[in-house]
Amino acid sequence: MDGPLPKAIFYTLTFLSIAIMIWQVAGQSRHWMKGKKITWRPNYISGLITYVLAQRKVMGSRPKEGAPLHLLIFYGFLSLFIATTLLALATYGSVVGIPNWHKGAYYLVYEAVFDALGLLFIIGILWALKRRYHLARTEGQPIPDPETGKLNRSANPITTTWQDFAALYLLLILGVSGYVLEAARIAANPKPWDHYSFVGYGIAQLLPGLSPAGYIAIWWQHMVWVWLFFAFLPQMRIKHIIFATLTAAGTEEAPMGKLPTVSPESLESGEPIGAASARDYSRWHLLSLDACMSCGRCTEVCPAYNTGKILNPKQIVQDTHRAIRTGENIPAAVSEEALWACTTCNACVEACPVLIRHVDLIVDARRNLVSEGQLTGTATIPLKQIAGTGSAWGQAAPEREQWMEGLNIPLARNGKPFEYLFWVGCAGATDPAAVRTTKAFAKLLQKAGVSFACLGQEETCTGDPARRIGDEATFQHQGNTNVAAFHQYNVRKVVTACPHCLNTLKNEYPDLGLTDLEVVHHTELLAELVESGRLKSAQTLPGSVTYHDPCYLARVNNISDAPRKLVGQTSNLDSSTPLFTKEIGIAPDSNNILAEPTHHGKKTLCCGAGGGRMWMEEEPDQRPGNRRAEELLATGAKTVALGCPFCRIMLDASIKQVTNEEIKLVDMAELLQDANS
Ligand code: SF4
Ligand code: SF4
Repeated sequence: MDGPLPKAIFYTLTFLSIAIMIWQVAGQSRHWMKGKKITWRPNYISGLITYVLAQRKVMGSRPKEGAPLHLLIFYGFLSLFIATTLLALATYGSVVGIPNWHKGAYYLVYEAVFDALGLLFIIGILWALKRRYHLARTEGQPIPDPETGKLNRSANPITTTWQDFAALYLLLILGVSGYVLEAARIAANPKPWDHYSFVGYGIAQLLPGLSPAGYIAIWWQHMVWVWLFFAFLPQMRIKHIIFATLTAAGTEEAPMGKLPTVSPESLESGEPIGAASARDYSRWHLLSLDACMSCGRCTEVCPAYNTGKILNPKQIVQDTHRAIRTGENIPAAVSEEALWACTTCNACVEACPVLIRHVDLIVDARRNLVSEGQLTGTATIPLKQIAGTGSAWGQAAPEREQWMEGLNIPLARNGKPFEYLFWVGCAGATDPAAVRTTKAFAKLLQKAGVSFACLGQEETCTGDPARRIGDEATFQHQGNTNVAAFHQYNVRKVVTACPHCLNTLKNEYPDLGLTDLEVVHHTELLAELVESGRLKSAQTLPGSVTYHDPCYLARVNNISDAPRKLVGQTSNLDSSTPLFTKEIGIAPDSNNILAEPTHHGKKTLCCGAGGGRMWMEEEPDQRPGNRRAEELLATGAKTVALGCPFCRIMLDASIKQVTNEEIKLVDMAELLQDANS
């Protein structure tokens, strides 16, 4: 490209296309700035390395197709970006006195390596195009479950537009025209080392004797595609290159199960709280909505959507995104019925590759409905019971000690020092089946000689159901009461058999001033006791018992290996998501003691209890628990073990609905107690 006029055109159009891109991004950023200031300090470097460079959220999601093709495109694109940047630096470095290093052995390696990496990009795009055609053909049809391949009840939520195809073809043309440009350079001005650029060299054989004018024409057509790419990037599905990168850089490293805390001042003001409009979400939450690429991963795994309910988490994201621009209020933009259908299982959050926190959005919208007095029906029952008795089950405080009769359970108020506070929970003190777990665990602690105590009638509901239903005031009242009791007894370690209590104590009470507290699930402590020889592991015939991973244990708090250790089974489910594995970390079936259901570990299926759903009316044919029960029973096991009193209540009802067979439902502590009695 010689001469002042071509140079002027080149620089003008390059800067213009980039300016158009920045202008559009800046336009979007005006909408994010309508939100509330974030309350955390982002770790930009860690966010970029973890979620952008290492692609942590993409790995393991849709392992058969979506993840591998995305990784090919991403790393291929990144390599092209690096190659272009190096070339530009070498070319323009002379302006600031840096000698051109783009020669010698470095140049040959550069050409060979980036020629190979660019191919990844093209293969990934072709794969994505094939997949997109398939998705377009199957739009609206029942979708196969990402893990089992079995058809779900609900329709494929992924919509495809002509813009999606246009974006993919634009990327394909960019990649191919880059190679053609390289080939044209080689054909027009051959050099002895050209074969190092092996792809371009191969194509150059098709362009023998290309004139310099032909080369220049090819060069300009490549630049046209580059300019179009810059100018239209913020309009295409691949806009997440920009927005997901910004989202990752600004993310809060908060535990998955932690909901944003409403300030005491807002609660005391008496004004409605939560999200009445998009402006009530944080700026980061609003930015994250722009990163959504409509991939539908969140909806594919949603237990509410897959049992035929109106809730579609992708739709929630898109409706909220629209509301930022239109100024619509959230209750007008987002279906209220959908908001109440959520179990807060976090399957959507786990699946979303761009870090969107759907549960934050949903619960904040619920908070507003609750503070506006819009909550009616059975969902109000636990709130009234907590307010009246301190128990979600409505049990009077002194009755919390009924299960202790004849067991000689130490109480904190008696003043004897203890190592662990055994947090029993409302269900553990009330529900007859959960009480069996409580007693079994207490006896195991006594047998192993663990120093522990209970709060007894001084224990009140953690506030978890209230918080997830949207009643933040009740949650904080409960939390403050419990935190005061913890401080009074100088509690340093807590063990509980309830994953919902565990999540709240561990991840949410620090916002209420309870820091430096070690919180473990009872299966974790029991696994330690088995490992140290203080208890015997459970004896079960291989394949006779299946295990249900509770969402708030396995997915939300990353605890899946400990329960399996109790039957002597090793697994690697708690480690970070590995690449492309379907059976994440599970030993081959032949070595398993438990009959593993297809969905396990972080990808477990929800029983339908969370988010206050246990108290809400549900059509029998729409129960997530029934779907889970069918899958557990399909393993052939006649005993279902678990580690959550909520799951136990739901699965007990569902198993009776889906089979007439005699199926035993037990907590892992009961299995262990059999071996230690
Ligand atoms: S938390 Fe669970 S139920 Fe709620 S939208 Fe996400 S996947 Fe669906
Ligand atoms: S919210 Fe996340 S998972 Fe859902 S469609 Fe958007 S990008 Fe995909």
